[in-house]
Amino acid sequence: MLLIISGPSGSGKGTVTKRLHPGEGYALSISMTTREKRPGEIHGVDYVFCTKDEFREVRDADGLLEHATFSGNYYGTPASYVNQQIRQGYTVVLEIDVVGALQVKAKRPDAVLIFLMPPTFSELRHRLETRGTEDEDEIDRRFRRATDEVAELPKYDYLVINDDIDNAVRDINLIVTAEKLKPGRSDEKISHFHDNYNGA
Ligand code: 5GP
Repeated sequence: MLLIISGPSGSGKGTVTKRLHPGEGYALSISMTTREKRPGEIHGVDYVFCTKDEFREVRDADGLLEHATFSGNYYGTPASYVNQQIRQGYTVVLEIDVVGALQVKAKRPDAVLIFLMPPTFSELRHRLETRGTEDEDEIDRRFRRATDEVAELPKYDYLVINDDIDNAVRDINLIVTAEKLKPGRSDEKISHFHDNYNGA
């Protein structure tokens, strides 16, 4: 299953997705980006950091499931890792912006789209200011972008309010459990049922 988590910068997406562990069936996709590495970020863990030329090369070779420009930088999801992990039965988590999320939904209608929101806009502003990773101009740009992103909320399957990390993670696990129980995702179980019935 493909699980997409979007939400305004400062909504806590990074913190929430890091709590979705492989032991519970999740695989986190690692995006490519041309933005500068922030202090503490690790190449190959948080992102694959690359130049614009390197990014274009992968994109032009059809190596990206989706891509978007955010605050002047390119971001994209390498397709090979996603396909490989899905084949192995993982729920692959993409933490991507709204533009990219809608590209994936168009290609893979069975992808599940979750929008993560902070409780209020003033809380969002506060989080952006206190995390101290962006300057004032960048905070303003991200805050304006947040308003545009929230307008796309009706195109998402679920809304999770991140007023408490534990609650947000619990809600996401509940969504995944419910999605996995949809009949359309259970072809294998249904054919198993028919085999048993025919053999009875
Ligand atoms: P940041 O610079 O704060 O790490 O990310 C900026 C925005 O880009 C966030 O909304 C994040 O979810 C989004 N983003 C990160 N990786 C990707 C990606 O591979 N594709 C798209 N479309 N957006 C991404």
